[in-house]
Amino acid sequence: MVFIRIVYQKNKKNMPELPDVEVFEHYFNYTALHKKVEKVNVDDDSILENISPRSFQMRLKDEKFKSTSRYGKYLFIELIRDEILVIHFGMTGYLKYYKNEEKSPEYEKLIFNLNNGFKLAYVCTRKFGLLSLIDNQQDFIEKHELGPDAYSDDLNWNNFKKIFEGRRGSIKTAIMNQKIIAGIGNVYSDEILFQAKIYPFSKIDILSEKELKEIYKKMNWVFKKAIEPNVEEDKFPKKFLLSHRDVGAKCPICGGTIKSEKYSGRTAYYCEDHQKKK
Ligand SMILES: [Zn+2]
Repeated sequence: MVFIRIVYQKNKKNMPELPDVEVFEHYFNYTALHKKVEKVNVDDDSILENISPRSFQMRLKDEKFKSTSRYGKYLFIELIRDEILVIHFGMTGYLKYYKNEEKSPEYEKLIFNLNNGFKLAYVCTRKFGLLSLIDNQQDFIEKHELGPDAYSDDLNWNNFKKIFEGRRGSIKTAIMNQKIIAGIGNVYSDEILFQAKIYPFSKIDILSEKELKEIYKKMNWVFKKAIEPNVEEDKFPKKFLLSHRDVGAKCPICGGTIKSEKYSGRTAYYCEDHQKKK
C-alpha cells in the first residue's frame, strides 16, 4: 500500500514546499521508478516549459526513470538516456499513480502510461506547475539562480549565518526567497519562525546571532519532523503551527492566540504571545 501525505491540499492555498516535494519524491520512488514509459498524454500544453508536447512525447517514449533527487521545490528525475525530467508543483500540483482501469483523477494535466499496467499522472487544479526536460541539473539551478537547498548538508550554520550578513528586510520574506534559500514557502516559513519564537516580520538586522541560530536549528528540526516517512497531518508534532493555522486558534506552544498579518504582500500566521514584535 503506497501512502501519500497531502498536507498542502488541506490548507487552502498552500504551495507544495520542500517537505511536500520530498514526500512526492518518496512516492515516485515507491511507484514509477525504474518503470518504462510507453506513451505520454499531454492534456494541457501550458504546463510544459521550453518544449513542445510532441517533442516531450517523443523524447519520453520508451524511456525509463532511473533515479530521483530534490532541490528546493523541484523534483529531478533522471532518465536512462541521460536527459532529466524536472517537475515543479506550482500551487496545487501532485503525482498520482493508478491502475489503467481505475478512474483517472480530475485535473490531470499529463499522463505517463507505463509498461506495467499503471499510469502516473501529474495533477494540478491550477496552472502554475511545470514539467520540462533538461540536460544538466546544476545548469538548471544556476539558471534559476536558486540559493542553497534549505535541507542539505551544504547549508551548515556558518553558511546560513553568512547568507544574512548585512541583509535587510524581514526574516520571513528572506527565507521564502528562493534565490537566498531554496525550498521554503509561506507555510514552512511561518512554522520555522513559530518554533524559533521569532516575530515573522522582524527585520533581519535586529536579530541577534543567537536568534538566527535558533531559526537555523528549528528549520532543520521542522523539516526532519515534516519529512519523516508516513507522517500524516494529524500525527505532526503537537507543537506544529501547521494544524492550528487559523485566526483565533489556540497556540499549541504557549496557549496564546494565533493571528494573521499581512506585510509586503505576504500573510503570516503567528502567535502574538510568544512571537513578540521587537
Ligand atoms: Zn504561543
